[in-house]
Amino acid sequence: MKKNDAIDVMNEELLAVAVKTGFPSPLSSNPSNLSDEEKIESIAEKFRDIMVILGLDLEDESLMRTPKRVAKMYVKEIFSGLNEDNFPEIRFSENNYDHEKSGNMVFVKINVNSFCEHHFVPVIGTAYVAYIPRKKLIGLSKIPRIMKFFAKRPQLQERLGAQVADCLSTLLETPSVAVSITAQHYCMIARGIEDFTSHTTTNVLKGEFRDNPEMQKQFFEAINRA
Ligand SMILES: [Zn+2]
Repeated sequence: MKKNDAIDVMNEELLAVAVKTGFPSPLSSNPSNLSDEEKIESIAEKFRDIMVILGLDLEDESLMRTPKRVAKMYVKEIFSGLNEDNFPEIRFSENNYDHEKSGNMVFVKINVNSFCEHHFVPVIGTAYVAYIPRKKLIGLSKIPRIMKFFAKRPQLQERLGAQVADCLSTLLETPSVAVSITAQHYCMIARGIEDFTSHTTTNVLKGEFRDNPEMQKQFFEAINRA
């Protein structure tokens, strides 16, 4: 790669904006300053209380380590996207091709694993993400990583799509981003209506994907082929 092909690795300012973009998140304006280890200790204690209240025997060999296990899973895995330090490292490369003129998009299909913020149970599905590059390209594997970052939070499907779309639009400095998510919500499967077949689809269409019927058609055709 020629030296000037590599665009500024991480524009910190852009990144700070990108991490916070999207549908407003109900994140506390006064977050705890606890370290991950302190969070795990504290959540484990509270989860132990929940289990005791439910009538479980915490001396039981199989249950005794559950509080710590759940706490660790919350902090380090399924809700790790609440910690901005976990945003993936992103590098860009320069785009030398006029995608806008030719109407070409970059399209990826991604698995989505998230958690419903109303019930704290899984939301599992597929996301289709497209953008029309301007000056910058991003490694294809970075798009799933960005999706994963925002998915690893208690979420709303609508917000997840909007956050990924806005984040990519900010980082890639292109107005044209589309995100379609089709997912199964375990709060509709394991409880409530107990409907095993229901799927929820949400779309976020920005720039050309919103305003240009031809690009919109290309996006939905790509989904049908994916
Ligand atoms: Zn739910």
